[in-house]
Amino acid sequence: MIIGIDIGGTTSKIGVVKDGRVQATLRVPTTGHADEHAFADALTAAVKELAAGQQEAITGIGIGAPNANQYAGIIELAPNLPWKHDVPLASMVERRTGIRTVLGNDANAAALGEWRYGAGQGLHDMLMVTLGTGVGSGFITNGQLVLGSHGNAGEIGHMTIVIDGRECTCGRKGCLEAYVSIRGLRRTYEELDGDPAILEEPGVLCIAKAAQQGDQAALQTFRHAARWLGVGLANAVAVTGPARIVLFGGIARNGELLMAPLREWFQRSLLNIYHGRVDLVASALPDDDAAILGAAALTTL
Ligand SMILES: [Zn+2]
Repeated sequence: MIIGIDIGGTTSKIGVVKDGRVQATLRVPTTGHADEHAFADALTAAVKELAAGQQEAITGIGIGAPNANQYAGIIELAPNLPWKHDVPLASMVERRTGIRTVLGNDANAAALGEWRYGAGQGLHDMLMVTLGTGVGSGFITNGQLVLGSHGNAGEIGHMTIVIDGRECTCGRKGCLEAYVSIRGLRRTYEELDGDPAILEEPGVLCIAKAAQQGDQAALQTFRHAARWLGVGLANAVAVTGPARIVLFGGIARNGELLMAPLREWFQRSLLNIYHGRVDLVASALPDDDAAILGAAALTTL
């Protein structure tokens, strides 16, 4: 029995995982605590409450968080979290619960979850890409999660896809994230002179619905996103040669609207030797459970 904790910008989800399934969950607000110690206390209370309802002992806790450094067990200056300094959350929770605790980057956690419990089972080489508020990714290469010398390798969201292109949240220009995140798709729709009334609704579902009703700017938005993403994924394949790429997140849930043009651009951009040898699939994990399973999988490293 493992506890998986997913730290989000507003809410953190805590779940008990057994045999690759989430058995029970609780939620704790990420914001509104006096400081990070009060937040760790709240997480600990939730862990204890979940543990009390189980027959077996909890053997580990895995925490997935934005900007987490797995080597140091520290959340480093995460822009979307309340604390404006480094937080050693792994040791804070371990000290309070007495249970071994591992902290990892949320995108890497998602990749691990997919590898252990989802569409990546049994593979030695895969790439997981999360398309949402940002673009996160994690590489499993030669049967191992790629961390790099500083603990934060494998971020294709901040690979330059357009030289001198759009400003990115990282302060640079032309990153993949500036084009295929929620913000990126909405900006593309604007640049294509789409209907401003559509964008009154947040997210990308509004653009997907417009596309299904034949809105040309909305259809073009998905085709453009597919082109940028197809090129980005083909570049990633040239580096690590995965057997499968798994897409996750709200934007990936729009079925053939994205996948049909994406497969076309991906094949067109791939090195010849990889033609027909890299699967492109959507995640096999239930949405609500994926982040918890991924965080729990951090303890299996
Ligand atoms: Zn960037």
